[in-house]
Amino acid sequence: MIIVMNPDATQDQIDNVIGMIREMGLKEHAIQGTELTVVAVIGEDRKKDPSIFETLPGVSKAMKVLAPYKMSARELHKQTSTVTIGEDCVIGGNALQVIAGPCSVESEEQIVNTARMVKEAGATALRGGAFKPRTNPFSFQGHGEDGLKMLAAAREATGLPIVTEVVAPADVELVSSYADCLQVGTRNAQNYALLSEVGKQPKPVLYKRGMSMTLDEYLQAADYILAAGNENVILCERGIRTFEKFGRNTYSIAAIAELKHRSHLPVVGDPSHATGHAHLVTPAARATIAVGADGMIIEVHHDPAHAWSDGAQSLTPKQMADMMPSLAQIADAVGRSLAIPQHA
Ligand code: PEP
Ligand code: MN
Repeated sequence: MIIVMNPDATQDQIDNVIGMIREMGLKEHAIQGTELTVVAVIGEDRKKDPSIFETLPGVSKAMKVLAPYKMSARELHKQTSTVTIGEDCVIGGNALQVIAGPCSVESEEQIVNTARMVKEAGATALRGGAFKPRTNPFSFQGHGEDGLKMLAAAREATGLPIVTEVVAPADVELVSSYADCLQVGTRNAQNYALLSEVGKQPKPVLYKRGMSMTLDEYLQAADYILAAGNENVILCERGIRTFEKFGRNTYSIAAIAELKHRSHLPVVGDPSHATGHAHLVTPAARATIAVGADGMIIEVHHDPAHAWSDGAQSLTPKQMADMMPSLAQIADAVGRSLAIPQHA
């Protein structure tokens, strides 16, 4: 259930509503918007009648949220939420953000140079994995904390905020102490302990859809992060498993539009993992913008043939730079713009 307060509702009236929710043995999550406050009821509220709340002073309306997901539901928030990575990489506003960088952080020189090149090409945040969830236990697993330090050096050199994956609940505090945004990858999309843990730390979370997850399952899982107290969740469509083998995954491009329809959370695409082949990344990136995403995350490597992971799908910095003007044109055609890198 959600309870929408009148625009002029006082804090006492909001507290009164919260008191009533607690008396029912339920919990609340109040979202203070610029115009009005919405209070979401968390817990088993199916048998409660929303009209009880409508008798309270300051309440505009109370209604059941029919979808199985609650906190991520669009009903809760008519406007798309914005999530800010670092100081000014705002995802969910009019400007579209391109987060770019290598799959894995390989060395300080690699990540600092790549950061400079992707920024030059128009990226507004840097990606790079220090903890890698590899399919094969004998593949490179990432440099761990040393990799986080290399990312911090790249941020220092370029001003780009950093997005990096966390794989285990035990590493959340460490990764959060370096990163500007924590990524939860497709293999951990239903690791509810990890979702709750990233929900308890203050940095935004770029949460990728599981490769076999329905959108209902995905949004309910996003609620784990939100319910733990972190409102700054960015959804990411990175391709799903189907019978089709021409690409690494099948880019469920319409899922981006459907997620935006069902949820107030900002949505980005990942044309790199969604396709798995560099020659498909630019067309898929264009489609990402055309279908209404709030930005994208792409893999860029200075020497894809020698990348330690995901070389086949990595663009070179030049390929990225060549792609960007067409993304700006498509953004313009759909009433958006491409964000410009801010820092020196
Ligand atoms: C990645 O971003 O490098 C990654 C491992 O992505 P995914 O979880 O989408 O496979
Ligand atoms: Mn990768």
